[in-house]
Amino acid sequence: MSRRYVVIGNPVAHSLSPRIHRLFARAAGHAISYETLLAPAFRPAAERFFAAPDSGGANVTLPFKLDAYAWAAEHGSTTVNADEAGAVNAILATPRGPRGDNTDGVGLLRDLQQNLSLPLAGKAVLLLGAGGAARGVLGPLLRAGPRRLTLANRTAERAQELAKAFDGVEPMPLAAVCGGYDVVINATSASALGDGLALPEAAIEGGFCYDMFYRLEADTAFCSWCRERGAAGVADGLGMLIEQAAESYLLWRGVRPDTAPVAAALAHG
Ligand code: NAP
Repeated sequence: MSRRYVVIGNPVAHSLSPRIHRLFARAAGHAISYETLLAPAFRPAAERFFAAPDSGGANVTLPFKLDAYAWAAEHGSTTVNADEAGAVNAILATPRGPRGDNTDGVGLLRDLQQNLSLPLAGKAVLLLGAGGAARGVLGPLLRAGPRRLTLANRTAERAQELAKAFDGVEPMPLAAVCGGYDVVINATSASALGDGLALPEAAIEGGFCYDMFYRLEADTAFCSWCRERGAAGVADGLGMLIEQAAESYLLWRGVRPDTAPVAAALAHG
């Protein structure tokens, strides 16, 4: 039976996930369909989709990752990465109900450590932001063995609250960050909103700067800002998006696609 997959979100028309997963499926010789599913609310949309016998799985994007976690935990099961994040971005249809996973952290680590050759073991890492994206990557980041992991957020209380759930994470107000970091990861939505970050310049000097946000046609605002202020290198989150998609594909189909040809295809428009 040909299986159906969707990405559930609102808005979702802009999503690159259908393109990425169709490229994975073509390379693997799998007959699947992958579409966007615009949902006013998560539960009714997910229940209708997963009730169909040919549903294989779903990705979940803004603003539904927390709803997806609650739904999978209630009606099926969740993975350790999903429990740590309290959020789900990939769901597998199983005979025992939906299985919710979170592949964002693994995707980020794959992009940093394999694609960009930046091993994090023993490194000083600065993570900016304390929203859903930061929460989703803290566990995998800690397991990579950094010497130091600082979590800085504009609203300092949110960083303090989030750091309580993860041993070894040092919370800090964004404006108080000093230098000395090997890797700086922007998990705020400032680039997406077109805003600047009130981050002291010393924080990024000499470090490699990674923006989880991405733009196909140009640098993100954060990447440009860091490049102009002495960053050792910059990268945006397109690689993370492709790697988290590959982890979703592995969950659904049992094979991890080769991501390099897909990254090359997207880079060429
Ligand atoms: P979110 O839950 O809404 O959190 C937003 C965070 O950004 C908060 O910590 C907020 O700080 C901070 N922020 C917003 N505007 C800011 C500004 N002008 N200055 C400083 N801090 C600011 O959003 P999210 O779901 O975590 O997503 C964050 C980003 O990650 C988005 O750009 C998203 O596209 C990206 N992302 C990418 C991938 C990928 O695969 N590449 C995956 C997941 C997410 P306060 O607490 O002070 O409000």
